[in-house]
Amino acid sequence: MRPIRDVHSYANPGETRVAHAALDLEVLFRERILRGSVDLSLDRVDPSAAAVVLDTRGLDVHGAETSAGGSGWTAARFELGTADAILGAGLTVPLRRGDDRVRIAYQTRPGASGLQWLEPAQTAGRRHPFLFSQSQAIHARSWIPIQDTPQVRLTYEARVRTPPELTAVMSAGGNPEGRRGGEYRFAMPQRIPAYLLAIAAGDIGFASMSRRTGVYAEPSVVEASAREFEDTERMMEAAERLYGPYRWERYDILVLPPSFPFGGMENPRLTFATPTVLAGDKSLVSLIAHELAHSWSGNLVTNATWRDFWLNEGFTTYIERRIVEEVYGADAASMEAVLGRQDLEEEIGRLDDPDEILHIDLTGRDPDDGATRLPYEKGSLFLRSLEELFGRERFDAYLRGYFDRFAFRSILTEDFLDDLRTHLLASDEGRARRVPLDAWIEAPGLPEEAPRPSSPALDAVARIAEDWSAGRAAPDSIPFGKWSTQQRIQFLRRLPTTLPPARMAELDAAFGLTGSRNNEVAFQWLLMSLRSGYAPALPRLEEFLVSIGRRKYIKPLYEELVRTPEGLARARAVYARARPGYHPIAVDTVDRIVGQPA
Ligand SMILES: [Zn+2]
Repeated sequence: MRPIRDVHSYANPGETRVAHAALDLEVLFRERILRGSVDLSLDRVDPSAAAVVLDTRGLDVHGAETSAGGSGWTAARFELGTADAILGAGLTVPLRRGDDRVRIAYQTRPGASGLQWLEPAQTAGRRHPFLFSQSQAIHARSWIPIQDTPQVRLTYEARVRTPPELTAVMSAGGNPEGRRGGEYRFAMPQRIPAYLLAIAAGDIGFASMSRRTGVYAEPSVVEASAREFEDTERMMEAAERLYGPYRWERYDILVLPPSFPFGGMENPRLTFATPTVLAGDKSLVSLIAHELAHSWSGNLVTNATWRDFWLNEGFTTYIERRIVEEVYGADAASMEAVLGRQDLEEEIGRLDDPDEILHIDLTGRDPDDGATRLPYEKGSLFLRSLEELFGRERFDAYLRGYFDRFAFRSILTEDFLDDLRTHLLASDEGRARRVPLDAWIEAPGLPEEAPRPSSPALDAVARIAEDWSAGRAAPDSIPFGKWSTQQRIQFLRRLPTTLPPARMAELDAAFGLTGSRNNEVAFQWLLMSLRSGYAPALPRLEEFLVSIGRRKYIKPLYEELVRTPEGLARARAVYARARPGYHPIAVDTVDRIVGQPA
């Protein structure tokens, strides 16, 4: 394994590489800390190298010991470097000849960027506290001293202690299926990058969905979650038909409290998911197709640095829509693809040129800055363009081979391009000449020949939106209630950017938009309400911003709010109430929009 320069890590895997981690952690809710130790098994790639360098952020390190073969532990004189605002601090532990283990005793701090501690009032049950982690991109180092670069893959095991009435789960085997008792053991035998290390603890129940799938959630939402996600097994079977066997044994979903800042996080064996997709009608379950797809693109074949993030997300977005097509039909998949291209064009309108490049340069920046819609949708369109050019049969065979060739490896964009040239482009030079690789990978914007997905169902909705806007259609002639979520979103997006309050009221009265419990629809409506100055939606906006911490929703709403002086005042007032309930990652985002409260 060649060492790769990763500008977001201090680690030295070219010399000494972590191969296995054994965690022993106690979850202390009152103090909001994890306390314990990690025992790392090392691969001495260069036996003459005299240290292992780990990543940390804001950890209190109590001591380090080293050993050869796990006996005769000796205290080591470790050195914690100066902390950088983005990277944290390197932890260097000297090694003697033959040392292949290092044990670090440490504890986290209450503000750890990768952990969120919820008060009972912030949970659905309101009786017990809740903890969950979010390690991607470089937050694992805020709760474990580790080589926090995705080029390093490790297996892990863990012993976790919690208060006896709570349950702990991890991205590993051994999750307790609802059993309690306060002591839990986990093992992850497949090699994963550090950003897939994950933990949660709280009042967590379990419901089985199939032999190998199930849902973890707070008891009051566990049954509803299992119903919403009951197609998960069918999705797995579809993905296996396309891309080969599922290699992680179980696939479970943990439904988190609403402050989770993302839609989902593809922690292996245990996807973490936002409850905002519980629409009651499975209309938002493409999120599960997405997280499941990461079991191939991302978790099995992993971006080696954050510059290659599009290899994770572009492939996954493409596969997500293939799974949706298999399970819910071509029309559903087309609708997702059309809305995806709309999202991409909007994002390109907002981003600066360098951020529109798939192979983005993130030197000196937080890798979370690269997590825009661009790597998802542009990457997906690129793969779709290859599918259209070479035909589905050949492209599917190529992708399946790609997952086999790179299984359990972390790769660079260059590795993918070499593989693509060898295994797809070389077989058909005529077609290969029509692939503008450089424009896709290294240039901003979209190549001229980028696919334009179409959906007759969404086209029909767009015409209805036009008719209503032009006064040619009455609201009661519009079958809004019968439409899918995707059609409803299309309808709202195709209305004029701003409408007079009376016209907003007409739509609201007809379709109950302010009261919608479908979060995608509610979000689209609240954004429109802000642009149009539609006051009756403002109380709902405040409730939405205080109760939900998903960044995809709250970021655009705050950005829209702060455009006017009254809006800015309102944003500050709402944010003051909402901020204590947001995740550190969401707080960081909204602080930059609204300003830190005094
Ligand atoms: Zn993803």
